[in-house]
Amino acid sequence: MSRGDQLRRTHRAPVDRGPAGLAARAIAELADEDPLLYSLLADDLRAQSGTLAMVASSSLAPASVLAAAGAALSNVTAEGYPGARFHAGCGVLDEIERLAIERAKIAFDAKYANVQAHSGSSANLAVYFGLLKPGDTILGMDLDCGGHLTHGSPASITGKYFTSVSYGLDGTGRIDYQQVAELAEEHRPKVIVCGASAYPRTPDFKRFREIADSVGAYLIADISHVAGLVVAGEHPSPIDFAHITTTSTYKQLCGPRGGLILMGADADAPGPGGRGTLRKLLQRSVFPVGQGTPNPGSIAAKARALQYVTTPEFRWVAKMIVLDAKMIAAQLADLGYQVLTGGTDNHMVLVNVLASGLTGVVAEQALESCGILVNKNRIPGDVKSALIGSGIRLGMNSLALRGLAPADMGYCAELLDTVLSAVTLVSDTEYTLPESVHRHVSSAVEDLCRAYPVPGYPIPGLQEHSRAS
Ligand SMILES: *Cc1c(COP(=O)(O)O)cnc(C)c1O
Repeated sequence: MSRGDQLRRTHRAPVDRGPAGLAARAIAELADEDPLLYSLLADDLRAQSGTLAMVASSSLAPASVLAAAGAALSNVTAEGYPGARFHAGCGVLDEIERLAIERAKIAFDAKYANVQAHSGSSANLAVYFGLLKPGDTILGMDLDCGGHLTHGSPASITGKYFTSVSYGLDGTGRIDYQQVAELAEEHRPKVIVCGASAYPRTPDFKRFREIADSVGAYLIADISHVAGLVVAGEHPSPIDFAHITTTSTYKQLCGPRGGLILMGADADAPGPGGRGTLRKLLQRSVFPVGQGTPNPGSIAAKARALQYVTTPEFRWVAKMIVLDAKMIAAQLADLGYQVLTGGTDNHMVLVNVLASGLTGVVAEQALESCGILVNKNRIPGDVKSALIGSGIRLGMNSLALRGLAPADMGYCAELLDTVLSAVTLVSDTEYTLPESVHRHVSSAVEDLCRAYPVPGYPIPGLQEHSRAS
């Protein structure tokens, strides 16, 4: 080795001077300077690794997505859009935002993408505030039938600020298109929203568009729950049927907290009253109408996630998500559970637990005490409050990402049933669960979590789910 080589060697930085070095140092500093917060974050990582998350809205962001979200880029202040900012120093962010937009367009085969919305809800609000005036009518899916708060629920600003009309389900638990058409004819909404938070079947986007066209309404497809399946080709895409498509990025897209607004064939269609194009209208509606600065770290993480979901690896996971969901639905039905609509087309399974003598909240809590995470959910015609609920909602995103396959679903259904069939309801919110069942299922869950670690995450010592029933 020459003297020069030796010098360069000794002078080489001890750590990577790029983002990896910053992240490593940042984590060490966090542990050192704020041990309380660090240990809480460690607890959370252990909890995520050691529980079976079947919460339908949850998924697992690849570690690279988490890294991008936490990059130094967060320091950049940038109102406006790439090439038209209101602050200096945005050159690199411009490139990153353009990359995220490009990847969103590729992933969804879209002509327009806005990656600045802070959440799925913010994306929906931007769309409404762009298209509607206060008091205008939205026709959306009823919350209890599976719609989202932002689809016109009285609890949300979308139900207070606009006139909200809701459609529901037919006798088989599917969207009642006849009712959608009749309500549209009667109320002449400016906007019709399709897409849901708790609906295990595929909406007929074409039919929705025909109904929207018949009354001159804009069709919004909110695919927050199924966006990953859409990218992977496991679910029909609404991009060219809906005027505007919105989604959260942290659910099935495995991205950061955030939202996306997308358009296909109608990107250059006229806005309300023929003013401007939808493209121009939405750009303004996100900024400056509804938001100030974007979240640069989140935009970088969206770029990363939008690339990840187009990989063959994710396409395979998406297939597993649907097959796992179909399989666990079938297994639960075999065990005597009332599975709504008799099964599923997507990642989601809804179970009426009142029919099994339970409430949603008790089922959720009993399962959580054993390390299985689901969520209580109201079901069509529910007589219980939202905090109790008669159903539970399961989703297979996280399990499939961990590598659990359809062949594992019989065992997962058995674990669910072991807990649920052993619960004794004391009141709508109180229950008892035999300690032996708790011990057995908790340890089975730990074994499963060890066998299927979260890919790319470290494997910490698994936490005891030792809370007594
Ligand atoms: C989760 C969800 C949203 C809201 O997304 P956030 O990012 O949590 O604000 C909107 N619409 C539907 C259908 C959802 O499921």
